[in-house]
Order: sequence, then C-alpha cells, then structure tokens
Amino acid sequence: MAANPRNTQIKYTKLFINNEFVDAESKKTFQVLNPSTEKVIANVAEGDKADVDKAVAAAEAAFKRGSEWRTMDASARGALINKLADLMEKNIDELAAIDTLENGKTFENAKIFTDLSVKALRYFAGYTDKIHGKTIPSDGPYLSMTRQEPIGVVAQIIPWNYAILMAAWKWGPALAAGCTVVLKPAEQTPLGALYLAALAKEAGFPKGVINVIPGYGPTAGSALCYHPSVRKVAFTGSTEVGHIIMESAAKSNLKKVSLELGGKSPLVVFDDANVDEAVKIAAGAIFGNHGQSCCAGSRTYVQARIYDEFVKKAAIAAEAIKVGDPFDEGVHQGPQVDRVSLDKILSMIDSGKKQGAKVVTGGTRIGDVGYFVRPTVFSNVTDNMTIATDEIFGPVQSILKFDTLEEVIERANNTKYGLAAGVVTKNIDTALVFAEAVEAGSVWINCYDEAMGAQTPFGGYKQSGIGRDLGKDSLKEYLEVKMISIKLPMKN
Ligand code: NAD
Repeated sequence: MAANPRNTQIKYTKLFINNEFVDAESKKTFQVLNPSTEKVIANVAEGDKADVDKAVAAAEAAFKRGSEWRTMDASARGALINKLADLMEKNIDELAAIDTLENGKTFENAKIFTDLSVKALRYFAGYTDKIHGKTIPSDGPYLSMTRQEPIGVVAQIIPWNYAILMAAWKWGPALAAGCTVVLKPAEQTPLGALYLAALAKEAGFPKGVINVIPGYGPTAGSALCYHPSVRKVAFTGSTEVGHIIMESAAKSNLKKVSLELGGKSPLVVFDDANVDEAVKIAAGAIFGNHGQSCCAGSRTYVQARIYDEFVKKAAIAAEAIKVGDPFDEGVHQGPQVDRVSLDKILSMIDSGKKQGAKVVTGGTRIGDVGYFVRPTVFSNVTDNMTIATDEIFGPVQSILKFDTLEEVIERANNTKYGLAAGVVTKNIDTALVFAEAVEAGSVWINCYDEAMGAQTPFGGYKQSGIGRDLGKDSLKEYLEVKMISIKLPMKN
C-alpha cells in the first residue's frame, strides 16, 4: 500500500470470471467516484447479461460432479477459506483504504469492518467439516438418514454500505456449504470485492468457484436473478429491490431467495435510564457509518419525563461528531456514498421541516464538494411524519416522545420493517417485555449494534427480510437436505 492510504493504487478493475480478470463483452466501463472529492477513482468493466452467462457457466463447471471443488475434502475447503482470511488480514490496510476511497467511511472504521470480515470467514471456515445430517427412526425396517448438500450456483447481490463485510458475510456460509458463487457488488463500490477476488485466487480457490461481476442492478443484477442455472440468490439491499428479486425468482426457475433488507428500527429510552449513557447509545445507533446502516436506530423513542433533557444532550452529542476527510485521524464521519443519497437525505430533512418537526441541530449539507451532511437531530417528531416512517439512510436522528411501555411497543411495531430494535432501561422486566414483544430480528438491551459478530444470526422480520446471515442459521440458506432410506432385512 502507498505510504499515504489516500494514494492507494487501484489494481483490479475488470470482471473476475474463472480466476481471470477480463473485460466486459460489451467493452463498456463505468466510473467509480470518491465521494469525498467527487473525482473518478477508476473506470470499471461493466458486466451485463453476456458476462453473467459466462460467470454462471464458470460457476456451474466448478460445481460439476467430479470437479476439484466438489471432490475436495471439507476440511481442505475450510483451510482455503482460512487462507483467504489470512490474506485479507495481511492486506487489511489496503482493503480498508479501498473501502474508504470508494465508500467514504472513515479509514479507522474501514479497518474495524475489514477485521470483522476476516473473523466472519474464519468462523465459517470452521464449519466446513461440521455440516452433517442425521439418522432418523423411520417406521418399518428402514435406515433413514439425511445429507446436507450444497445448493449449487449461488448469486449474491450486495450493497455499498459495508462493501467488504457484505462480501464476507455472503461468501463465508456459501463456500463453507460447498456452493460456487457469482457476486455482484454495488455499482458504487465494486473495487473492494475485486480486490477480494484477487486474494481468493492467490489463496488457491479453484477457477470458477468465486466470480465477481461489477455492474448495475437492472442489468447485471437482474440477469443473475433470472438466470435458470442459478439455484439461489442471496440479496442485501433495499426492500424495494427485494420485491423485484423475489419476482425474478418466481418468474424464472423458483430459485431460493434470501433477503436482508431495509429498516426503520426503534430505539426506546425509558426514564429510569442514565440519560448521558442513553444519549451516547442512541447517537451511536443512528450516526454510526454516517447513518448508512440497515439496522440504524432511526426512530429514537424517549419517555416523556426525560424528553427535553435528552433532546438537549442529543444535540450536543451530534455537534461533537467531527465530519471531514475520512482518512484523517479523529474524524468520525466522512461523506455519504453518492449524490443520489445526498439529495435523498436533504429532501428527507426538508420534509421533516415541512411536516412540523423541529431541527435542533444540523439540517444542511457541508461545503459544496463531496457529499457531506451535518449530523442532524429532529425533535417533536410524530409517527406519521415521513422522517419517522421511511428509511433516510443518513445522519438524521428523529426523536419521538412516548408515555407507557404498552404504547411504545405498539408504536415500535407499527412499521412494515422489522430488522432491529433497542431498549435502554435499568428495569429488567421492562427490557425483557419489550425485547419479546418487538417484531425485530435483533434486539439490543442497554447497547445498540453490539455483538454483531459472525456467531450471532442477523436478519429481519416482516419486510426487512427473509432468512438469516451469520451464525449457524445462515448455513442452511445454502444447503439442501436430502433424505436417503435403506431397506434392512429386519427391524432392529
Ligand atoms: P439497492 O437495493 O438499491 O441496491 C443493492 C444492490 O442491489 C446493488 O448491488 C444494486 O446494484 C442491486 N440492484 C438494484 N436493482 C436491482 C435489480 N433490479 N435486480 C437485481 N439487483 C439490483 O440498495 P442500496 O441503496 O445500494 O443499499 C442500501 C439498502 O440496503 C438500504 O435499504 C439498507 O437498509 C439495505 N441494507 C440491508 C442490510 C441488511 O442486512 N438487512 C445491510 C446493508 C444494507
């Protein structure tokens, strides 16, 4: 890596198919911008249907009976995944620099999330030779057993907000299960995934096991979702596109679908909480990763007695967030990912003002180069305002007032989403009643976004998703269960 991570050279800009970097069939490329400077970082090969067909054919060949991948011992598969994790760890600074350059997240955070990606791969590497079936007491003189078999060719479509982490979350269980993959990274952040592909080749994955096709959703992404040889699509992204993915699966070959989608997650602060501590938890929940987290605590419910004090302190906490060049030490918040996102956030802030919420701090863009937004706090937010119902995906905190536990449970659940929730209270009864009643895939008590390691399952209720990433639960998303029964001469 260059001494100055800002000058990190981009080495991989082509599609990765069959362990080779190749141009798109169309020879088309698209620009990847640095959201801090709005300057072009790289021109990347733009994959489309013809390239998807090639990549899927490569993944199919790699999955064929008798192939190197299919005949590899499960333990050796684990060793390969571990080797990839080792190479990521060795190149962590360069990977993190690429993440910061194309996504805008702080270099410090990019390193933390790359480290989490390494850990996720190691976790799944350990599972390769622990995926096994059962023997079952069938009626009659039969021995019945199950085998857990890899589904086959898997398409994985990921967003830009944690580009490297999302690739690791998807590759880990798929490769551990023995599938082959075609990954389509987000058009804003293809460079990290291409770098990972180069590391996978160096680690020694057989050709065709891992393929990466940068490109746009409605072209490359859609071609993957409609492809008749793809047996499963694993998607992380918006709920809107999640609907399209399911439709494509239904209209093509009924491929299996897992979806990790958007959220509008409630974080509820009761009046027995330490207000300073609660403000800190709530700020972390919404402003982490510049508000660009699917599980962001984007509805902060505060009990009436401490509401005013909380709002005042929340503004101070937001103002203490240092926004600037994400490579600078001490900076907490870099730019939003792109112009579309910036414009959406600013228009959501406008809607909040128009609908009667009060801007306590922030509410504007910073400067006119780069997509920087001032951390924003709204008070006097009510449940029907757009900033309380729709995903903003930016550094905008909406603070709502509530009176009772029953009331806040009902209001917390009054959303199409169900990804995450949090509760801050000293009362264990209150915390557990809320945790059990809230419709969300992850619930944090007296913390938020914590313990999201590889070991714990992650996913959504309702329109926040189908299936789980991470944890042992994620493996079954990539496995078929086969029952085999053998007739015995007698019942034993
Ligand atoms: P997005 O849905 O626009 O894009 C995500 C991916 O889908 C990209 O790779 C994109 O190219 C692709 N895509 C777009 N249209 C497609 C189509 N028609 N067919 C196939 N693929 C298509 O989402 P985004 O704005 O890039 O990412 C932010 C969203 O992701 C937010 O809603 C956020 O909540 C969600 N997200 C969810 C999780 C989770 O685990 N639940 C994690 C991170 C982000």
